[in-house]
Amino acid sequence: MRLQNRVAIVTGAGRGIGRAIALGLAREGAAVIVNYSRSAAAAEEVVSTIRASGGRAVAVQADVKELSEHGRVIATALEHFSRLDILVNNAGVEIHEAFLKATPETWDFTLAVNLKGPYFLSQKAAEAMIRFGGGKIINISSVHDVVPLRNRAIYSITKGGMMMMTKSLALELGEHRINVNSISPGAILTDMNRKSLSEPGNLDRVLAKIPWKRIGEIEDIAGAAVFLASAESDYVTGATIYVDGGLILT
Ligand code: NAP
Repeated sequence: MRLQNRVAIVTGAGRGIGRAIALGLAREGAAVIVNYSRSAAAAEEVVSTIRASGGRAVAVQADVKELSEHGRVIATALEHFSRLDILVNNAGVEIHEAFLKATPETWDFTLAVNLKGPYFLSQKAAEAMIRFGGGKIINISSVHDVVPLRNRAIYSITKGGMMMMTKSLALELGEHRINVNSISPGAILTDMNRKSLSEPGNLDRVLAKIPWKRIGEIEDIAGAAVFLASAESDYVTGATIYVDGGLILT
Protein backbone atom coordinates (compact mmCIF):
# COMPACT_ATOMS: atom_id res chain seq x y z
CA MET A 1 0.00 0.00 0.00
CA ARG A 2 1.43 3.33 -1.10
CA LEU A 3 -0.13 5.59 1.56
CA GLN A 4 0.31 3.57 4.71
CA ASN A 5 0.34 5.80 7.84
CA ARG A 6 -0.60 8.85 5.79
CA VAL A 7 -3.48 11.13 6.77
CA ALA A 8 -5.53 12.91 4.12
CA ILE A 9 -8.26 15.53 4.02
CA VAL A 10 -10.55 15.45 0.97
CA THR A 11 -13.01 18.35 0.63
CA GLY A 12 -16.43 17.62 -0.84
CA ALA A 13 -15.83 13.90 -0.40
CA GLY A 14 -19.42 12.73 0.09
CA ARG A 15 -20.25 12.75 -3.61
CA GLY A 16 -18.78 12.62 -7.08
CA ILE A 17 -15.06 12.92 -7.73
CA GLY A 18 -14.24 13.64 -4.08
CA ARG A 19 -15.89 10.38 -3.02
CA ALA A 20 -13.81 8.35 -5.48
CA ILE A 21 -10.63 10.11 -4.36
CA ALA A 22 -11.40 9.44 -0.67
CA LEU A 23 -12.00 5.75 -1.39
CA GLY A 24 -8.89 5.57 -3.60
CA LEU A 25 -6.61 7.10 -0.95
CA ALA A 26 -8.11 4.82 1.73
CA ARG A 27 -7.52 1.74 -0.46
CA GLU A 28 -3.82 2.64 -0.41
CA GLY A 29 -3.80 2.84 3.39
CA ALA A 30 -4.43 6.54 4.12
CA ALA A 31 -6.71 7.61 6.96
CA VAL A 32 -9.22 10.01 5.40
CA ILE A 33 -11.07 13.06 6.69
CA VAL A 34 -14.24 13.06 4.59
CA ASN A 35 -15.35 16.70 4.39
CA TYR A 36 -18.86 17.64 3.27
CA SER A 37 -20.94 20.80 3.42
CA ARG A 38 -24.52 19.52 2.96
CA SER A 39 -24.32 15.81 2.08
CA ALA A 40 -24.04 14.37 5.60
CA ALA A 41 -25.59 10.98 4.84
CA ALA A 42 -23.43 10.51 1.75
CA ALA A 43 -20.29 11.42 3.70
CA GLU A 44 -21.17 8.96 6.47
CA GLU A 45 -21.66 6.29 3.81
CA VAL A 46 -18.14 6.94 2.48
CA VAL A 47 -16.79 6.64 6.03
CA SER A 48 -18.67 3.34 6.56
CA THR A 49 -17.39 1.96 3.25
CA ILE A 50 -13.79 2.77 4.19
CA ARG A 51 -14.16 1.30 7.70
CA ALA A 52 -15.86 -1.83 6.34
CA SER A 53 -12.74 -2.64 4.38
CA GLY A 54 -10.46 -2.11 7.38
CA GLY A 55 -9.58 1.52 6.72
CA ARG A 56 -9.74 4.62 8.91
CA ALA A 57 -12.02 7.59 8.18
CA VAL A 58 -13.98 10.36 9.89
CA ALA A 59 -16.55 12.74 8.40
CA VAL A 60 -16.45 16.46 9.15
CA GLN A 61 -18.94 19.12 8.15
CA ALA A 62 -17.45 22.41 6.98
CA ASP A 63 -18.22 24.89 4.24
CA VAL A 64 -14.92 25.55 2.44
CA LYS A 65 -15.92 29.14 1.66
CA GLU A 66 -16.16 29.90 5.40
CA LEU A 67 -12.56 30.44 6.47
CA SER A 68 -13.59 30.24 10.15
CA GLU A 69 -14.56 26.58 9.59
CA HIS A 70 -11.15 25.50 8.25
CA GLY A 71 -9.64 25.07 11.71
CA ARG A 72 -12.22 22.38 12.50
CA VAL A 73 -11.22 20.35 9.44
CA ILE A 74 -7.50 20.43 10.26
CA ALA A 75 -8.22 19.74 13.96
CA THR A 76 -10.26 16.65 13.04
CA ALA A 77 -7.22 15.16 11.28
CA LEU A 78 -4.88 15.97 14.15
CA GLU A 79 -7.25 14.84 16.91
CA HIS A 80 -8.22 11.54 15.29
CA PHE A 81 -5.06 10.57 13.44
CA SER A 82 -2.32 12.78 14.97
CA ARG A 83 -0.89 14.11 11.72
CA LEU A 84 -1.67 15.57 8.30
CA ASP A 85 0.09 14.61 5.06
CA ILE A 86 -2.34 15.18 2.19
CA LEU A 87 -4.95 17.83 1.33
CA VAL A 88 -7.18 17.37 -1.70
CA ASN A 89 -9.01 20.60 -2.60
CA ASN A 90 -11.86 18.95 -4.48
CA ALA A 91 -15.02 20.85 -3.45
CA GLY A 92 -16.27 23.05 -6.27
CA VAL A 93 -19.34 24.69 -7.75
CA GLU A 94 -20.30 25.53 -11.33
CA ILE A 95 -23.15 27.93 -12.14
CA HIS A 96 -24.44 28.28 -15.69
CA GLU A 97 -24.74 31.97 -16.56
CA ALA A 98 -24.10 33.82 -19.81
CA PHE A 99 -21.50 36.59 -19.50
CA LEU A 100 -24.08 39.24 -20.42
CA LYS A 101 -26.35 38.03 -17.59
CA ALA A 102 -23.60 37.45 -15.01
CA THR A 103 -24.07 38.78 -11.48
CA PRO A 104 -21.63 39.86 -8.77
CA GLU A 105 -23.29 37.29 -6.47
CA THR A 106 -22.26 34.43 -8.77
CA TRP A 107 -18.76 35.87 -8.99
CA ASP A 108 -18.37 36.19 -5.19
CA PHE A 109 -19.88 32.77 -4.44
CA THR A 110 -17.91 30.85 -7.08
CA LEU A 111 -14.60 32.52 -6.24
CA ALA A 112 -15.19 31.90 -2.52
CA VAL A 113 -15.81 28.15 -2.95
CA ASN A 114 -13.45 27.39 -5.83
CA LEU A 115 -10.49 29.64 -5.07
CA LYS A 116 -10.45 31.61 -1.81
CA GLY A 117 -11.52 28.61 0.29
CA PRO A 118 -8.89 26.24 -1.17
CA TYR A 119 -6.21 28.95 -0.93
CA PHE A 120 -6.69 29.55 2.80
CA LEU A 121 -7.39 25.91 3.64
CA SER A 122 -4.08 25.11 1.92
CA GLN A 123 -2.39 27.71 4.13
CA LYS A 124 -3.73 26.06 7.30
CA ALA A 125 -2.88 22.58 6.01
CA ALA A 126 0.64 23.65 5.03
CA GLU A 127 1.27 25.02 8.54
CA ALA A 128 0.43 21.57 9.94
CA MET A 129 2.33 19.66 7.23
CA ILE A 130 5.49 21.68 7.91
CA ARG A 131 5.40 20.41 11.49
CA PHE A 132 5.34 16.82 10.16
CA GLY A 133 8.15 17.31 7.65
CA GLY A 134 6.23 17.87 4.42
CA GLY A 135 3.12 16.85 2.52
CA LYS A 136 1.06 16.91 -0.64
CA ILE A 137 -1.56 19.41 -1.74
CA ILE A 138 -3.67 18.32 -4.69
CA ASN A 139 -6.05 20.77 -6.35
CA ILE A 140 -8.92 19.44 -8.42
CA SER A 141 -9.08 21.96 -11.23
CA SER A 142 -10.61 21.36 -14.68
CA VAL A 143 -9.73 21.30 -18.36
CA HIS A 144 -11.43 24.69 -18.23
CA ASP A 145 -8.25 26.05 -16.64
CA VAL A 146 -7.09 26.36 -20.27
CA VAL A 147 -10.22 25.79 -22.39
CA PRO A 148 -12.91 28.49 -22.08
CA LEU A 149 -16.44 27.21 -21.53
CA ARG A 150 -19.49 29.00 -22.89
CA ASN A 151 -21.85 30.29 -20.17
CA ARG A 152 -19.41 29.27 -17.42
CA ALA A 153 -16.86 32.10 -17.62
CA ILE A 154 -16.69 32.59 -13.84
CA TYR A 155 -16.17 28.86 -13.24
CA SER A 156 -13.42 28.78 -15.88
CA ILE A 157 -11.77 31.87 -14.38
CA THR A 158 -11.60 30.12 -10.99
CA LYS A 159 -9.98 27.09 -12.56
CA GLY A 160 -7.49 29.22 -14.48
CA GLY A 161 -6.71 30.91 -11.17
CA MET A 162 -6.32 27.53 -9.53
CA MET A 163 -3.55 26.67 -11.98
CA MET A 164 -1.61 29.78 -10.93
CA MET A 165 -2.39 29.01 -7.29
CA THR A 166 -0.86 25.55 -7.79
CA LYS A 167 2.31 26.99 -9.32
CA SER A 168 2.62 29.81 -6.78
CA LEU A 169 2.17 27.58 -3.75
CA ALA A 170 4.56 25.00 -5.22
CA LEU A 171 7.17 27.74 -5.54
CA GLU A 172 6.88 28.78 -1.89
CA LEU A 173 6.32 25.39 -0.29
CA GLY A 174 9.02 23.34 -2.05
CA GLU A 175 11.60 24.17 0.61
CA HIS A 176 9.21 22.66 3.17
CA ARG A 177 8.95 19.44 1.14
CA ILE A 178 5.32 20.12 0.30
CA ASN A 179 4.32 19.28 -3.26
CA VAL A 180 1.46 21.22 -4.83
CA ASN A 181 -0.09 19.85 -8.00
CA SER A 182 -3.38 19.94 -9.89
CA ILE A 183 -5.52 17.35 -11.55
CA SER A 184 -7.64 18.77 -14.36
CA PRO A 185 -10.51 16.42 -15.17
CA GLY A 186 -12.31 16.47 -18.51
CA ALA A 187 -15.99 15.50 -18.70
CA ILE A 188 -16.58 13.17 -15.75
CA LEU A 189 -20.14 11.99 -15.12
CA THR A 190 -21.30 13.42 -11.75
CA ASP A 191 -24.18 15.45 -10.35
CA MET A 192 -22.38 18.55 -11.70
CA ASN A 193 -23.10 17.66 -15.33
CA ARG A 194 -25.61 14.76 -15.29
CA LYS A 195 -28.47 17.06 -16.37
CA SER A 196 -26.60 18.84 -19.15
CA LEU A 197 -25.17 15.57 -20.50
CA SER A 198 -28.69 14.12 -20.68
CA GLU A 199 -30.01 16.99 -22.82
CA PRO A 200 -30.60 15.94 -26.44
CA GLY A 201 -27.46 16.18 -28.57
CA ASN A 202 -25.20 17.29 -25.72
CA LEU A 203 -23.66 13.88 -25.02
CA ASP A 204 -22.80 13.41 -28.71
CA ARG A 205 -21.32 16.93 -28.91
CA VAL A 206 -19.09 16.25 -25.89
CA LEU A 207 -18.08 12.77 -27.10
CA ALA A 208 -17.11 14.24 -30.48
CA LYS A 209 -14.44 16.29 -28.66
CA ILE A 210 -12.97 13.35 -26.71
CA PRO A 211 -10.40 11.24 -28.57
CA TRP A 212 -11.09 8.33 -26.17
CA LYS A 213 -14.78 8.46 -27.15
CA ARG A 214 -16.17 7.96 -23.68
CA ILE A 215 -17.24 10.15 -20.77
CA GLY A 216 -14.89 9.89 -17.80
CA GLU A 217 -15.78 8.06 -14.62
CA ILE A 218 -15.00 9.29 -11.11
CA GLU A 219 -12.54 6.41 -10.65
CA ASP A 220 -10.49 7.82 -13.56
CA ILE A 221 -9.50 10.70 -11.27
CA ALA A 222 -8.69 8.59 -8.20
CA GLY A 223 -5.59 6.99 -9.77
CA ALA A 224 -3.97 10.35 -10.52
CA ALA A 225 -4.78 11.51 -6.98
CA VAL A 226 -3.11 8.43 -5.45
CA PHE A 227 -0.02 9.04 -7.59
CA LEU A 228 0.20 12.72 -6.54
CA ALA A 229 -0.36 11.76 -2.88
CA SER A 230 2.37 9.10 -2.91
CA ALA A 231 6.16 9.21 -2.71
CA GLU A 232 6.24 8.25 -6.42
CA SER A 233 5.54 11.89 -7.23
CA ASP A 234 8.01 13.45 -4.77
CA TYR A 235 9.85 15.31 -7.55
CA VAL A 236 6.64 16.51 -9.24
CA THR A 237 5.45 19.94 -8.15
CA GLY A 238 3.59 22.84 -9.72
CA ALA A 239 2.28 20.46 -12.37
CA THR A 240 -1.16 19.82 -13.82
CA ILE A 241 -2.19 16.33 -14.88
CA TYR A 242 -5.00 16.33 -17.44
CA VAL A 243 -7.28 13.34 -16.96
CA ASP A 244 -9.61 14.00 -19.88
CA GLY A 245 -9.40 11.26 -22.52
CA GLY A 246 -7.58 13.82 -24.68
CA LEU A 247 -10.31 16.49 -24.58
CA ILE A 248 -7.91 19.45 -24.52
CA LEU A 249 -6.21 18.17 -27.69
CA THR A 250 -9.22 18.90 -29.90
P1 NAP B 1 -20.42 17.35 -7.67
O1 NAP B 1 -20.83 15.93 -7.91
O2 NAP B 1 -21.36 18.45 -7.94
O3 NAP B 1 -19.88 17.45 -6.16
C1 NAP B 1 -19.48 18.68 -5.64
C2 NAP B 1 -18.84 18.41 -4.31
O4 NAP B 1 -18.36 19.66 -3.81
C3 NAP B 1 -19.81 17.84 -3.32
O5 NAP B 1 -19.18 16.83 -2.56
C4 NAP B 1 -20.15 19.03 -2.42
O6 NAP B 1 -20.42 18.67 -1.09
C5 NAP B 1 -18.84 19.80 -2.48
N1 NAP B 1 -19.05 21.20 -2.15
C6 NAP B 1 -19.67 22.15 -2.88
N2 NAP B 1 -19.65 23.33 -2.23
C7 NAP B 1 -18.99 23.11 -1.07
C8 NAP B 1 -18.64 23.92 0.02
N3 NAP B 1 -18.96 25.21 0.05
N4 NAP B 1 -17.93 23.36 1.04
C9 NAP B 1 -17.60 22.06 1.03
N5 NAP B 1 -17.92 21.23 0.01
C10 NAP B 1 -18.61 21.75 -1.01
O7 NAP B 1 -19.13 17.72 -8.51
P2 NAP B 1 -17.90 16.88 -9.05
O8 NAP B 1 -18.12 16.72 -10.50
O9 NAP B 1 -17.62 15.70 -8.23
O10 NAP B 1 -16.78 18.00 -8.86
C11 NAP B 1 -15.71 17.87 -7.96
C12 NAP B 1 -14.58 18.78 -8.43
O11 NAP B 1 -14.17 18.36 -9.73
C13 NAP B 1 -14.99 20.25 -8.57
O12 NAP B 1 -13.96 21.08 -8.13
C14 NAP B 1 -15.20 20.40 -10.07
O13 NAP B 1 -15.01 21.73 -10.50
C15 NAP B 1 -14.15 19.47 -10.60
N6 NAP B 1 -14.41 19.03 -11.98
C16 NAP B 1 -15.48 18.25 -12.29
C17 NAP B 1 -15.66 17.86 -13.61
C18 NAP B 1 -16.78 16.98 -14.06
O14 NAP B 1 -16.91 16.75 -15.28
N7 NAP B 1 -17.61 16.46 -13.18
C19 NAP B 1 -14.76 18.27 -14.60
C20 NAP B 1 -13.70 19.08 -14.24
C21 NAP B 1 -13.53 19.44 -12.93
P3 NAP B 1 -21.90 18.79 -0.44
O15 NAP B 1 -22.81 17.96 -1.28
O16 NAP B 1 -21.70 18.25 0.95
O17 NAP B 1 -22.24 20.25 -0.44
